[in-house]
Amino acid sequence: MRIIFEGTSHGVPEAGKKCACTRIEVGGRNYFIDAGCDLAQVLADKRIPFESVSGIFITHSHMDHSVGLLPFYAITSWYYREADPPVYVPGENLVKLVGQFLDAYGYELRPTQKLEVVREGTFFDDGVLKVTAIKTMHAPDSRAFLVEAEGKRILFSGDIKGPGIDFPDIYDIDAAVLEGAHLWVNDYVDEIKKHNIRSVYINHYGNYLGRPNSERFVYLRNAIDPIPAMLTTDGAEITL
Ligand SMILES: [Zn+2]
Ligand SMILES: [Zn+2]
Repeated sequence: MRIIFEGTSHGVPEAGKKCACTRIEVGGRNYFIDAGCDLAQVLADKRIPFESVSGIFITHSHMDHSVGLLPFYAITSWYYREADPPVYVPGENLVKLVGQFLDAYGYELRPTQKLEVVREGTFFDDGVLKVTAIKTMHAPDSRAFLVEAEGKRILFSGDIKGPGIDFPDIYDIDAAVLEGAHLWVNDYVDEIKKHNIRSVYINHYGNYLGRPNSERFVYLRNAIDPIPAMLTTDGAEITL
């Protein structure tokens, strides 16, 4: 399985950094956690067949995690008609928004295009990849996701209030993709040890924090050694 960090920025796009979007590739299938950037462009740039998209999961409705769904639905409504992945959004507001957006541009959902609302607990399992949602306190509809595939467990924190406040109650994790915008990343140290997390990837952080951000990351890396930690950048990828 490969995890590709397509967009690692926080709520504001920055030079060379798109908003939140992570791709998981398992045996030729592509799944996305969040779509804060134009998913259709990501697929085109990487020459990924649209029909290989097998699931899109949105952690919460803030624009930097969800707006990229709109161009994806627009292009797959009339052109890439073979792309019908299950798409899970955090609430009915996004279901409505997708409908209004397509309507405004003169498109409509094909009957086979799928759009559902995430529910807490395990809400997706296609036999290749399983996704479980855990409520967080960042926004009324925010959730973290536990993704399981090929015997590995990956935690995506989504946006959270902070370590020690609403860190997901999940243990024995092969890789944790943790946000860095609403907290100091050095505060993750205790959670990483307590939850038996075996590798750490910080995304959704801003370069605006500049030096303090990297200093706090270096502190984190030293404090959890020998657990590997990476400050992700757009296009970086790992194999699990
Ligand atoms: Zn965000
Ligand atoms: Zn948010």
